[in-house]
Amino acid sequence: MSKTSPAVSSPVTRHPPPIRVFVGGEWQELPKRETGPVFNPSRGEVIAEVPMCTKEDVDLAVESAAAAFPAWRDTPPVERARIFFRYRQLIEENFDRICASVTREHGKTLAEARGSVYRGIENVEFACGVPTLLKGETLENLARGVDCETMLQPLGVCVGITPFNFPAMVPMWMFPLAIACGNTFVLKPSEKVPLSVVLIVELLEKAGLPEGVINVVHGGRECVDALLTHPKVRAISFVGSSPVAKYIYETGTRNGKRVQANGGAKNYVVVMPDADVERTVEALSVAAFGCAGERCMAGSTAIAVGKATERVLPTLVEAARAIKVGPTDVAKSQPDMGPVITAQHRDRVIGLVETSEKEGAKVIADGRGVKIPDAPKGFFMGATIVDQVQDGMTIAREEVFGPVLNVMRADDVDQAIAIANKSAYGNGAAIFTNSGKAAREFKNRVKAGMVGINIGVPATMAMFPFTGWDESFYGDLHIQGREGAQFYTQQKVVSARWFGDDIADVWKK
Ligand code: NAD
Repeated sequence: MSKTSPAVSSPVTRHPPPIRVFVGGEWQELPKRETGPVFNPSRGEVIAEVPMCTKEDVDLAVESAAAAFPAWRDTPPVERARIFFRYRQLIEENFDRICASVTREHGKTLAEARGSVYRGIENVEFACGVPTLLKGETLENLARGVDCETMLQPLGVCVGITPFNFPAMVPMWMFPLAIACGNTFVLKPSEKVPLSVVLIVELLEKAGLPEGVINVVHGGRECVDALLTHPKVRAISFVGSSPVAKYIYETGTRNGKRVQANGGAKNYVVVMPDADVERTVEALSVAAFGCAGERCMAGSTAIAVGKATERVLPTLVEAARAIKVGPTDVAKSQPDMGPVITAQHRDRVIGLVETSEKEGAKVIADGRGVKIPDAPKGFFMGATIVDQVQDGMTIAREEVFGPVLNVMRADDVDQAIAIANKSAYGNGAAIFTNSGKAAREFKNRVKAGMVGINIGVPATMAMFPFTGWDESFYGDLHIQGREGAQFYTQQKVVSARWFGDDIADVWKK
């Protein structure tokens, strides 16, 4: 039975058959499953149905991954890396198709989709370096005649559970490195954006990955719970909202799994009175309104210090009002900003802005009433700036995840850092200034794992870990970089000595 979506009131077009799962090297339809609608948010229309996998479906996927593990573990790392070199090439060749899919199911602009898929490619490139990443250390003569070495060995079946906001990139944070390290994988993409994953996994199959090494299941809570508790799953990578990240971490670790779980965020951008106005406004607009604010690294609150308010705010408001909103599933005349993911999500964001007004804040750029005549059912909201946000207000601390920038005020850098540090989250923070002293204070004292200095969205690239703190991350080893490779491997230390003839005696024989 298909679920009708609460997101649209008019009847929706059904597009059977539902999206397939990938198990044991085969794309399979699961015709009798409950399904959920996948929207094109630019049009507000259903473009596909995603099956809600059951525990039995998950069992088959995990068993397929477990069966593929021994042979894959024994495949030399250089051979594994070669598959990813081919994979990289295939993604380049299919780049436009993947970006169009990301745009269609998520709503981000083509330029944003391209940027995100490139970030994904960088993760594939990092995974190509796995022969170097997996090298251990040796100490000769740890004791007389005893040598000691470390080995990094894969874990077994690893799982990836991903959010809606980066349909291709976030899955690519996970499976290339996990698989290159010698693990096998079960991927559960967001049920809101399951289509791009089909494309990128098809290409991995084409690159020569043996059957069963990657598997894809779809669905929601039942599917996730089956993955979290399956005895053959060794590790779980998760990216999504904080309450779910916490749940994944607690349930996964209670069931003996290694877990890295990235959560939500509220990122503060401090603007000092000496900041370069033009560059700051440009960076802040991208930080706040890029991807319609649906980014865990969105700069969602500007803290204007002293005269920064009057220097920067008028230009910022102008810039926000100039942002062209519209459908992104068009080849030409791309807008500056696309829709948000669903009608409910847009209504939630609008609700938060309304609450802030009731609590005393001032809306100085208002994108709530935006109308797009050629896409009337799309889930649009224009760029919005809420000024005079105070600490106790709901919007000051809750993740909005929409095209809304809060503005708070501070007298000096100390007060700005104190405001930012009250956040329960700890993903990113940035400062705009020409003062080395202010920047140094900020980078040392701000409570966030990724810091930008005159850079609005300091999301880390593949070779660095994605270092969320506090409620933005549950676990010990972060996603990406060397930490990522550590997460997907276990260390063995081997101490060895050998008895018998001296080598000279052996040669004499
Ligand atoms: P979400 O938490 O609703 O969903 C993420 C995944 O968890 C999906 O695959 C979903 O099917 C599954 N899920 C949802 N509810 C569940 C439940 N109750 N039990 C088990 N599984 C469940 O997140 P979303 O709305 O898809 O994505 C947006 C969130 O992700 C934002 O909070 C954003 O900040 C966060 N995010 C964080 C990062 C990061 O690296 N920190 C990156 C991207 C997005």
